[in-house]
Amino acid sequence: MARVIAVTNQKGGVGKTTTCVNLAASLSATKRRVLLVDMDPQGNATMGSGVDKNALELSGYDVLTKRAEVADVAITVDTAGFDLMPGNGDLTAAEVELMNEIGREHRLRLALNKVRDNYDYILIDCPPSLNLLTVNALSAADSVLIPMQCEYYALEGLAALMNTVEQIQETVNPDLQIEGLLRTMYDPRNSLTLDVSAQLAEYFGDKVYRAVIPRNVRLAEAPSYGLPALKYDRASKGAVAYLALAGEMVRRHGTKKTSAPVAV
Ligand code: ADP
Ligand code: MG
Repeated sequence: MARVIAVTNQKGGVGKTTTCVNLAASLSATKRRVLLVDMDPQGNATMGSGVDKNALELSGYDVLTKRAEVADVAITVDTAGFDLMPGNGDLTAAEVELMNEIGREHRLRLALNKVRDNYDYILIDCPPSLNLLTVNALSAADSVLIPMQCEYYALEGLAALMNTVEQIQETVNPDLQIEGLLRTMYDPRNSLTLDVSAQLAEYFGDKVYRAVIPRNVRLAEAPSYGLPALKYDRASKGAVAYLALAGEMVRRHGTKKTSAPVAV
C-alpha cells in the first residue's frame, strides 16, 4: 500500500515542485510505482511532467468535486515512468465549490484511498499557502516532506510550518508525521548554509536527509522541456542528487520493489 507524502512548505520557490517531479522520476527509476498529485493551481508539476495544463480533459478539479475517480484522471507519463493526477487553475474553482460542503477537508484522502494499493508512493505537490487544497493534501498524507533553502529566514518559516503540522494533527489528521527535511539549492561554500544546516540537525536530528540537492542549472532547465532532470541530463548533479534522495527514502522505508502494476 502506498505511502502518501505531501511535499509542502508555505514558502514559495523553495523547490517543492522540482522535488516532486524529480523524486517521482527517481523513485520510478528504482522500480517503485509512483503517483504524483498536482494540488497547486499553478500546475507547475503538471507542465514539468510534460503534460499541458491548458489541455486537460480531466484534472484534480474533477476528483475534488466528485465528478471523476483518480484512476480516470491519472495519466501515465511515459517519458518519466510515473502516473500524474494533473492540476491547473480549475483547482481554485474546486476550492470555492467545496467551501460549503461537509467533509471538504477529506475529499482528496477518500479519493486516493481507492488507488493506494496500486502504488508504492503517492507524492502530493502543495501550493505555497495554507488553503483548503493544502489542507486536503495534509489530510490525505501519512507524512510531510519539507524542502527548504538553508538561508536566514528558513528556520522562522520552519517554525510556522511545524505549527501548521500541529494544527493539522489536532484537527483533520492526528497521524500526520514528519517524513523528512530536504536541503535544496544547497551551497556548502556559503557559511550561512552550514550554520543553518547545523541548526537543522540539532532540532530535527535524523529527520534531515543526508542527501542534499545542489543548486544546479539542469534542474531549472528541465521543466521547460517537460522532463525530470533524470531524462533531460542523466549525469547532471541535480539528477544524481534526486536519485540519492530516492535511495535514502527507500532504504528508510524498506519498501520492496514491485514488478508489473497489479490489475484492478
Ligand atoms: P516551489 O514549488 O517551492 O515554488 P520550485 O520547485 O518551482 O519551487 O523552484 C523554484 C525555482 O527554482 C524554479 O524556477 C526551479 O526551476 C528552480 N530550482 C528549484 N530547485 C533548484 C535547484 N536545486 N537548482 C537550481 N534551480 C532550482
Ligand atoms: Mg511549486
